[in-house]
Amino acid sequence: MRYVVLIILLIPVVVAAGLWQQWPGSERVPSKYNPFAPFNVDDPLNPITRFKLKALDQDPQRCLAALAGAREQGAIDYVEVGSPEIGACQLDHAVRVRSTSVQFSASFLASCPLALSWVVFERQRLQPAAREIFGRDVARVDHVGSFACRNVYHRASGRRSEHATAEAFDVTGFRMEDGTRTTVAGHWQDEGPRGQLLRRAFEGSCDVFGNSLGPEYNAAHRDHFHLGMRGYGLCR
Ligand SMILES: [Zn+2]
Repeated sequence: MRYVVLIILLIPVVVAAGLWQQWPGSERVPSKYNPFAPFNVDDPLNPITRFKLKALDQDPQRCLAALAGAREQGAIDYVEVGSPEIGACQLDHAVRVRSTSVQFSASFLASCPLALSWVVFERQRLQPAAREIFGRDVARVDHVGSFACRNVYHRASGRRSEHATAEAFDVTGFRMEDGTRTTVAGHWQDEGPRGQLLRRAFEGSCDVFGNSLGPEYNAAHRDHFHLGMRGYGLCR
């Protein structure tokens, strides 16, 4: 019975959304406030951004189109890998990210929304923080991977890790062009610029990813940031 009431209440919302999409004026609403406009990685982050990234998870073709747009802007280099089954894990319209404005310690598999989220984070949170603190961009990102066909915390039973679908990225540190190296394991508590960069990067990641887990969360995250797609801004 409750479901019937819910459906009746939702009808006007769905109709309004449909009319909104048809209305020619919807084109004139800036895309950062318009949940139906194509996703652009340079649209300033706001609460709608996460909603849009979530919606793209349900719409692989739109997500890949947005990623192709980012590639045209020179924001990312990647190859599509499709939806292979690897071990007991199934990827869904995944990509292999080769580089962005940074080099990576290794290329990595990512679901389309994860790749897009990374680019948004890098351009709107990580690099602005690096410029403010170091006067230049991060040149290289060190990581320990994104895809691993396993359960949460390697338990024999229980739910699948986000890593089983390449929906999370584990970042261990950043390097500048001159070789200055910052690691989560070594500098998280640092008072100087390296510690500042880590803390600003982590805080910034919370504006983009579904969940960000860092050294304060537990011992398993002492040496990396886990940046994942599940949730709505869980930040620990
Ligand atoms: Zn992780």
